[in-house]
Amino acid sequence: METLKIHKVIVRPGTYDIISADTGFYAFLGKRLYHAFDRLVCDEDKASFYEHAKNMDSEFFVIHMIDEGGNVSLWCARANQYEKSERLELEIANIADMFKSNIKFSQELNVKNRLLDLYGDFLFVYEIKWDRIIVYETTLSNQWKKIYKFDEIVDALKKNAADNEQESVDKFIAAAKKGEREFELRLQGAIFETNSHIKFTNIRATSIYEGGELISIVGYVHQGIKGDFSPKHRLERDSFTGLLTKGEIVNAATRAIDVEKREGVTLAIIDIDHFKKVNDTFGHMVGDEIIKNVATLIEREVGDHGLVGRFGGDEFFILFYDVYDMEYCRELLRGIKSSVPTMYPVNDQNKPAVTISVGCAAYPKDADNYEDIFTLADFALYRAKEKGRNRYIIYDKAKHGTLEEIKSFKKTGKRINSRGLSSIGEVLCMLMERVCIAKDYTAEKVLDDLAENSSYERIIVYSGTPYKAVMATGDKVPSDDVFAETESYLMDKAYVKEYKDDILIVNNIELLESKSHSVCEKLGKQGVLSFIQIRFKDKNGVDCILSLEAVNKGIVWDEYNLHYYKLMAFLLSHFDLS
Ligand code: GH3
Ligand code: MG
Repeated sequence: METLKIHKVIVRPGTYDIISADTGFYAFLGKRLYHAFDRLVCDEDKASFYEHAKNMDSEFFVIHMIDEGGNVSLWCARANQYEKSERLELEIANIADMFKSNIKFSQELNVKNRLLDLYGDFLFVYEIKWDRIIVYETTLSNQWKKIYKFDEIVDALKKNAADNEQESVDKFIAAAKKGEREFELRLQGAIFETNSHIKFTNIRATSIYEGGELISIVGYVHQGIKGDFSPKHRLERDSFTGLLTKGEIVNAATRAIDVEKREGVTLAIIDIDHFKKVNDTFGHMVGDEIIKNVATLIEREVGDHGLVGRFGGDEFFILFYDVYDMEYCRELLRGIKSSVPTMYPVNDQNKPAVTISVGCAAYPKDADNYEDIFTLADFALYRAKEKGRNRYIIYDKAKHGTLEEIKSFKKTGKRINSRGLSSIGEVLCMLMERVCIAKDYTAEKVLDDLAENSSYERIIVYSGTPYKAVMATGDKVPSDDVFAETESYLMDKAYVKEYKDDILIVNNIELLESKSHSVCEKLGKQGVLSFIQIRFKDKNGVDCILSLEAVNKGIVWDEYNLHYYKLMAFLLSHFDLS
């Protein structure tokens, strides 16, 4: 995620010739180095640009600008006098970039607020020269900017302060007038809006000097929802993993959805796959260590995007803020899902690497209250487990059924007829579209999307000579050394002979016994009951194998679906897989 770049461009008044600019802006200019700035501005915005530039009024305005390739983009600009000279300084920022960095900023604020148990946040700038205090609400879901005069704020503070707080208000105002470096005020209740949840308001301010002259005061307004706020207050954490407790994370999620109705809140429930077996095989101590490691990893991956709690056992819960785009959500979940196995490589033979399954649902897209969104995320997790684990599933009404159907399924266990992207043909059409259109689509994403939208329990891609497993997803993905054993027999002549048209279908692994004893033995040990393999070449002509495997269930691979399996390999052949 980018941080916002504000470009500074110095131009000559009148002619608007560009005298200097930062490298980022020179990149925007491209070969048009000797352009006058106004020639970049679209015609309909020229009048507004000239007006602000002539007055050097430091007011924000919006202009459309044309890049070298003729594309029009929207920019936020302001024209200032450059260091008391004749020259004009233009500060400009791309609005699309502003939006992106604002989301990031807003996510960080949300997370910090929640950890400090704060409610809403405002930033303010007091510009002394114009006697105006600009207050920005900083959460994206509810963004506004209001402008006050200094005396209006003084009146509001005095009006909202209790009798015994009047003295603190006076002190605060005196500090502002004097331009003290840092000063603070704490009042009971809210000052910018009436909201009964807000128990106190804390204002922190800093004076900004330029050349010894006080030019502005900037600060922060925090609104707290617990009366007993003190910096020592901390949310309760699970002593074992250090994540938030179930009570705290549910409280934060309920508040964000049911009280604040904060758009873009997304819940993800994570559960470690086959954890009982891990405990049984390696003992509880190893199990404990895995839980701690997975917790640390999830928290690190989530970072400032949200909060992480432990639900108990091997189950975790993420509350993401400001996720407006499910592709972006998928990106976050992909990061978590794919880093878990790498963090816990188990080297001993036959030990499964640790994997997780994730279910996810979002407010207000999927439902309008916490409980229902939780139900949907939980159902998506159930589906991820059912389809074969080691995958994330984002709830989608068309695919998974309505909330009512899911609730009734939970009560009665009656199956929901899946609709929408139900057939593998439709899934492949979607993948084909993504391979052709999405710029940063990768082979890993193809595999993840297949895992999300199909019931293939385990998908492995081998490449190179000799073959090496380069990608794997789904249930009981073997560790590297188990793969290495598999790789050796993939080259075996007797085994290769079994292939017809680069495809090998094995519907019952025991039938392979007489032909390739080692394959039967190795895969059998991993619990594979049947599989289909397709040989193909990647983008660079390197030999590859796509292997779809049934690990627990005895899936019969349908010969009528051969064209689908071939199409999967064909899609993968668009990538560099070595
Ligand atoms: P699934 O893939 O369906 O999730 O299978 P699973 O075996 O992981 O099943 P489930 O999630 O229902 O079981 C979780 C197990 O985790 C149950 C319990 O034995 C174990 N467990 C719960 N808390 C702890 C813990 O703190 N330490 C250890 N070592 N094990 C725990
Ligand atoms: Mg589990």
